[in-house]
Amino acid sequence: MTGKLTVEDLSLEGRRVFVRVDYNVPLKESAVTDDRRIRASLATIEHILRSGGRPLLASHLGRPKGRKVQELSLRPVAGTLASLIRARVRFVEDCVGPEAERASAALREGEVLLLENLRFHPEEEKNDESFARQLASLADLYVNDAFGAAHRAHASTAGICKFMSQAAAGFLMEREIKMLSRLIGEPERPYVAILGGAKVSDKIPVARNLLPCLDGLLVGGAMSFTFLKARGVPVGASLVERDQMDVAVSLLRDAASQGARVLLPEDHIVIPAGVEPATPRPTLGPGIEEGQRGVDVGPRTVAAFRSAISTARTILWNGPLGWFEHPPFDLGTRQIAEEIACSRGFTVVGGGDSAAAVSAFGLESRFSHVSTGGGASLEFLSGATLPGVGALTDRR
Ligand code: ADP
Ligand code: MG
Repeated sequence: MTGKLTVEDLSLEGRRVFVRVDYNVPLKESAVTDDRRIRASLATIEHILRSGGRPLLASHLGRPKGRKVQELSLRPVAGTLASLIRARVRFVEDCVGPEAERASAALREGEVLLLENLRFHPEEEKNDESFARQLASLADLYVNDAFGAAHRAHASTAGICKFMSQAAAGFLMEREIKMLSRLIGEPERPYVAILGGAKVSDKIPVARNLLPCLDGLLVGGAMSFTFLKARGVPVGASLVERDQMDVAVSLLRDAASQGARVLLPEDHIVIPAGVEPATPRPTLGPGIEEGQRGVDVGPRTVAAFRSAISTARTILWNGPLGWFEHPPFDLGTRQIAEEIACSRGFTVVGGGDSAAAVSAFGLESRFSHVSTGGGASLEFLSGATLPGVGALTDRR
């Protein structure tokens, strides 16, 4: 990884290692409903254990806003972790203070300690120095494997590094950076990006940064209505971000001048706005009538996108192409996901909802990389240095 220490560079024998993981997982009645992020952390934890180190795991979960919220306790996650790893998993009800210190001191070889939700303390998100120092005092070494939180400068991702002798990237962090870097370095061409999802403002910086090396920019999902509207196409009652229309126009202009072909939807699946249950129907062209709203891309759009995808050697996909949580409006997203899965090129999915869709379609293993970070992958692809990566120790 670009100039930073990784967990393999550390002498771990007998050392306590503070591992920042991303266990911000969905819970339903105290049960973990999606353990992908926990599984993604296992390689690093197992490596530390095998090397004689003692891992202390820390994560945030949800938005407790600096207070102890019982529903956002990481305790159930300790149970899930214990079922996935061959080690004893201990849990302590605070991430700093006397109890955490005692638990850290008592940690034996072959055991893992999970600390309680970092965000129960307001100092975590404020990147508070003395809180960072308290976290650091629990261990000898630091490893950051929480790619999904690396775009935040918080005490456990940034501040803590100052107080540790060595701060290294974990395997997941390393892999994320390596894979995503292939999308901004010198990607094999043709290079196609498919952008969808809800918010134009989230995705524009990525499109801007990638434009110079993109051959095709395929825009679908709710964000496409802002682009269509900006081009003067009627979109009925579909979601439009009016304050992003100028940005959309300028992006279309830049794409044209830089030789990237932009594909906007040629047709849609629409339903009458405000009527439930509604009967979906396809439109004849890109325009949408008054009172109708687009909920998925139509068959002609899918065909056009598929053909662009089939010849690409590098493919980035971020953002569902329709209201995929409500079948049958997942069809466009599913068909595009399947087309990408069939590609023999380098294929990456970014974004929490897109990754969930790929997993629901059972296509995860057929992508070169499914990023575990939503916001973090977008920030990375927009060219920013992630604070959680920047803070790691430089390799000499
Ligand atoms: P990701 O998390 O993959 O980056 P986003 O968060 O940007 O994706 O967007 C995902 C959301 O966008 C989903 O909830 C999906 O239902 C919604 N969405 C996409 N297209 C439409 C549409 N045409 N109408 C309503 N919702 C849509
Ligand atoms: Mg999302």
